[in-house]
Amino acid sequence: MSEKNWSFEVPGKLEVPYKYYAGEWGSKFLAALRDNMKIMGSKCPTCNKVFIPPRSSCEQCFGKISEWVEIGPKGKVTSFCVVNYKEPYLPVEPPFVLALIRLEGADSDLTHIISEVSPENVRIGMTVAPVFAEQRKASILDIKYFKPAG
Ligand SMILES: [Zn+2]
Repeated sequence: MSEKNWSFEVPGKLEVPYKYYAGEWGSKFLAALRDNMKIMGSKCPTCNKVFIPPRSSCEQCFGKISEWVEIGPKGKVTSFCVVNYKEPYLPVEPPFVLALIRLEGADSDLTHIISEVSPENVRIGMTVAPVFAEQRKASILDIKYFKPAG
């Protein structure tokens, strides 16, 4: 038997079921969306940076964070793209706008969908507000999307 015959490949695909644990801070963030329709961030006591999604340590000064602050609900689009392809994991049908949104009071951006406006009319600097889902499940999609908010 030659060296070449010692191994072979079988093409295939494995599916592995799993549950994602959002951690203590991520879980509190998602519960606030679900239960109170509030967007919560965390604030560093040393450099006063406010993070969304909230985090327990500061990426600026590496200090421990313990303070929760409500941010938004409005924000401004800082960047965006138009998604034109369809994938089973995407939450809405293309084309749709995926944007970075700097919520009022935050020092980092939240990525979310912009709707109720045609993609060609979305602009950087546009003020947007969240539209919450009627049935909330402690998911980032408890914010159904953001819409223009003059
Ligand atoms: Zn800090």
